[in-house]
Amino acid sequence: MKSKRIATIDTLCVACGTCMKECPFGAISIPTGIKALVNLEICVGCGKCSKVCPASVITIVEREVAYEN
Ligand code: SF4
Ligand code: SF4
Repeated sequence: MKSKRIATIDTLCVACGTCMKECPFGAISIPTGIKALVNLEICVGCGKCSKVCPASVITIVEREVAYEN
């Protein structure tokens, strides 16, 4: 079952990779080298990534609001 909440990453991400290392589920990748992306199928909305982002660009929001409206 998909989580109710999910991480969203703002375009101001500087692709430092800190969130990617912190995520316990491996839900974050930086495929383009420009901005981190959250895998919607894997993220559980735990918020660990948002706590460590030095640029404060990760927000945990309701999944419906983020991607399924
Ligand atoms: S920690 Fe923040 S700035 Fe760094 S890659 Fe993740 S979202 Fe981007
Ligand atoms: S909210 Fe949790 S599961 Fe989702 S990307 Fe961040 S650390 Fe990973």
